[in-house]
Amino acid sequence: MDGGCLDIWLEERLSESSIRVLSCYEGYINSFSNTFSIKFEEPEIKTEHEEKQIRNAIGYIPKQQISICGWANTIFPAFEAIMKKYGGYLKIPVGAEKEVFEKLKGHWFKIKYKHKVATIVMSGYYHLIDVEFVAKYFNEKSDDEERELFDFKSIFSDFLKKDFYKNRESSINEHPTHIEKRKFICKNCDLEATVYGEMYYDHGCHNYIATFTCSQCNNLFEHLISEMRWPDLKSPIEYDLIKDIVCMNCGSEKVIVWNKNEDKCPKCNSDIAYEIVGTIQLKV
Ligand SMILES: [Zn+2]
Ligand SMILES: [Zn+2]
Repeated sequence: MDGGCLDIWLEERLSESSIRVLSCYEGYINSFSNTFSIKFEEPEIKTEHEEKQIRNAIGYIPKQQISICGWANTIFPAFEAIMKKYGGYLKIPVGAEKEVFEKLKGHWFKIKYKHKVATIVMSGYYHLIDVEFVAKYFNEKSDDEERELFDFKSIFSDFLKKDFYKNRESSINEHPTHIEKRKFICKNCDLEATVYGEMYYDHGCHNYIATFTCSQCNNLFEHLISEMRWPDLKSPIEYDLIKDIVCMNCGSEKVIVWNKNEDKCPKCNSDIAYEIVGTIQLKV
């Protein structure tokens, strides 16, 4: 089986929390396919001519490079999942021939280059291809099950599951009826958010709630994470995890669980403390 390394180019630099998510993703993929690795670098664009072609093709000069190495059957589904979440273009030095490209859906751009390395002039071309192209060309045989395996939702629910199932084991009545009302204030930047910063059970809406951060707008917000299921009147209530959670501020799907004990300010990555500004009653 073939393997190798390829780069994704993104318009903007990744935030600290996104880098953390991708590092977890690396661990997750490695749990079933070893030798998968992700590195974060700056894109190397060597000449003005190359820069101009890139801008004309994709509309911006990429600021972030995600370099991924692994087996071909792992990296392409991972590229699809990563590009679905973070956007960008995949840079492939050798590609299919023009006729193949033209038959496909999605966007692709051919970039020609000429660089001088010491005294040798290197010239050639590479392609920048979008997520649709990756999906329809490299992963055309992937089915939904395989896509789900590589999708970020898998790791996203992994984050939640541990806490959620631990919480769910204790009976609803054991959950606190009052919790602190916490106001997080970052001393380094102006971020302020009134969130709990931990998972809790809300007796009012009969569901579990967790704090999230958005990697698009750095917002901190709380969101329901469970869905009540009542198989029949005799069985106890069951809970499923909600999968599609979007930022309450900007609507982005790029959200991850945030916990006060492990995470820092999503905006500037400094330590963040909270003040207790009251009590929240969860049960009448
Ligand atoms: Zn947002
Ligand atoms: Zn901050």
